[in-house]
Amino acid sequence: MTGTVYLVGAGPGDPRLLTLRGAEVLQRADVVVHDRLVAEALLDLAPAGAERIDVGKAPGDAPIPQEEINRLLVDRARTSGSVVRLKGGDPFVFGRGGEEALACAEAGICVEIVPGVTSAVAAPGVAGIPLTHRGVASTVAFVTASVATGPADLSKVATAADTLVVLMAMRRLGDVCRALVAAGRSPDEPAALVSSATTFEQRRVVATLGTLADDAEAADVEPPATLVVGDVVGLAEAIAPSVARPSAGSGAEAEPATLHLV
Ligand code: SAH
Repeated sequence: MTGTVYLVGAGPGDPRLLTLRGAEVLQRADVVVHDRLVAEALLDLAPAGAERIDVGKAPGDAPIPQEEINRLLVDRARTSGSVVRLKGGDPFVFGRGGEEALACAEAGICVEIVPGVTSAVAAPGVAGIPLTHRGVASTVAFVTASVATGPADLSKVATAADTLVVLMAMRRLGDVCRALVAAGRSPDEPAALVSSATTFEQRRVVATLGTLADDAEAADVEPPATLVVGDVVGLAEAIAPSVARPSAGSGAEAEPATLHLV
């Protein structure tokens, strides 16, 4: 009997941001195929006897080809039953979940999509940046700085939305900011970089589009990080001081190493 592949969004970092449906399918998984940055506490939800396969690539390691991951999902669904593919954030937001769903569809394998909290929304949120603040921004664009063929062409989207959220921009932050200015955004516009959102390592650098890359480098910000551009970033100054950070002593809970599900 052929099993099912569950494409599950693990959320941005804090394991408590997994959905209840995600937890349910993890608890019944025969196989868990996961990314590198997925929290240990989520893997612990799977039965002790479940097979756990890490297909994440450490920086510098040769990446596991996507085709191999697709093949693995199809094979395990045929031989092992319930396969949970646990992916960072939401499976269909710049995460190649679509390719995995297509591979399953082509192989006649049943797929369930379990949406997750995407970092594109969560990272600005926990940094106190309201993406569509009334009167300030009525449009938001989610953009990747990097496409299959290399750096993305940001010239068309740069001025198409009030707020821009740019993923995978960290490694070429200077180039990305310059490209946005060249395409018509003001270098004086507020811009922020939010890294490791929802984890204890969460950090935030607020500057302008013209100065952010230098400020982020000086602050030694490390990936993963999300870039936010637009006047809504200016609101963080008033909101962020009242937002509880996920750090010891802030009133936030202790390290969420274990999930207590009811
Ligand atoms: N599917 C994922 C995105 C995968 S692309 C999602 O929905 O969140 C990977 C990019 O996501 C990173 O380059 C970074 O821009 C962003 N990202 C992932 N986790 C993050 C985090 N904890 N904090 C800030 N940005 C994050």
